[in-house]
Amino acid sequence: MTDVIGAETAVIGTPGTPSATRVMLLGAGELGKEVIIAFQRLGVEVIAVDRYDGAPGAQVAHRSHSFDMTDPRRLLEVIELEDPHIIVPEIEAIATETLGIIENTGTTVVPTARATKLTMDREGIRRLAAEELGIPTSPYEFADSLEELRESCARVGFPAVIKPVMSSSGKGQSVVYGEGEVEAAWEYALSGGRVNAKRVIVEGFVDFDYEVTQLTVRSAGPDGTTITSFCEPIGHLQRAGDYVESWQPQPMSAVALESARDISQKITEALGGRGVFGVELFVAGDRVYFSEVSPRPHDTGLVTLATQRLSQFELHARAVLGLPVDVSLRSPGASAVIYGGVDAQEVVYTGVAEALAVPQSDLRLFGKPEAFVTRRMGVAVAAADDVDTARARAVECASRVECRAADS
Ligand code: AMP
Repeated sequence: MTDVIGAETAVIGTPGTPSATRVMLLGAGELGKEVIIAFQRLGVEVIAVDRYDGAPGAQVAHRSHSFDMTDPRRLLEVIELEDPHIIVPEIEAIATETLGIIENTGTTVVPTARATKLTMDREGIRRLAAEELGIPTSPYEFADSLEELRESCARVGFPAVIKPVMSSSGKGQSVVYGEGEVEAAWEYALSGGRVNAKRVIVEGFVDFDYEVTQLTVRSAGPDGTTITSFCEPIGHLQRAGDYVESWQPQPMSAVALESARDISQKITEALGGRGVFGVELFVAGDRVYFSEVSPRPHDTGLVTLATQRLSQFELHARAVLGLPVDVSLRSPGASAVIYGGVDAQEVVYTGVAEALAVPQSDLRLFGKPEAFVTRRMGVAVAAADDVDTARARAVECASRVECRAADS
């Protein structure tokens, strides 16, 4: 096997031949698709895996497989069949114990199998950050029953945010303002968790001024070392726990920025490995609270397609391959999500030409085979001399695209 990790040793083969550098993406949604394209530009052979046929990333990969990645046996079978040099998890719902086994055989898991396991569960990452590393977070408790939840809410105080421990993107998440709302929040959390675990986290509500994603890159340094670089902070707007707009750079006070980077350095170092991490932080004045971290590119980081010399996807591919990175900002910019707006099997997009007439704008239409009203189907990105103009452009661009059923 060719050693592709380490700046001095990076060697890339020819796709489709025995010398190929093979990367397997576990999860081939819109973020995975961009990562795959970034790898392919560097001559890497890419195998995409997702739960369904025709996922965005599968459409651009060399090969693809579709099955349930929480099935450890099937996952191991496909990994053994494809024999990748590097496995890049792009989603959280993966049989992480299989990744541990594979890692022990010498295959690289990005950033590490342990990081993938810790971050798929809100409890693992929260305890690591707050209890082991002493990083400031909201107050929190875990509960396994409605009774425990009532007690936890009383201790944490209202308002409180209740989330299934195995969930992301606001699924099953609600804010409760008093005792009377706790039962409904419990029921809602049980319906929104990724697995059948009846465990939730109760967090004290952080009354933040703004929230940021601090993209942090761990890449190869001299003599086998790993260096940490920070992208400019990304501000974002969430609705129902899902991102709708992001922009970069988010202005921050010098004290808050330093604290954001310090937290990001600590948590990514504790997770280890190489690649891009999206560290989610809440900022109130000069105080910064850690919320969570993705050991991979982040949805709010789609904005970097318009703003950075190397997008977060290109940074991820480079860091993973042991190549040098450059996190410099090229221009202020913004992104705005395009939702399905309909439930339909096959959709068409209208208004694309009008959307792209917005100055310095660009689009990504993910090509998902099925739309739901609230499914993310595309994103508009735009650059400008300032963030406000960029946001207005991205929102305008997104609003001009309409997704409708092909037969309507
Ligand atoms: P999460 O799925 O944990 O990233 O939460 C989604 C969004 O909900 C965050 O980006 C925040 O906007 C909001 N949120 C989550 N937890 C809290 C909290 N403890 N206090 C205030 N807002 C929160």
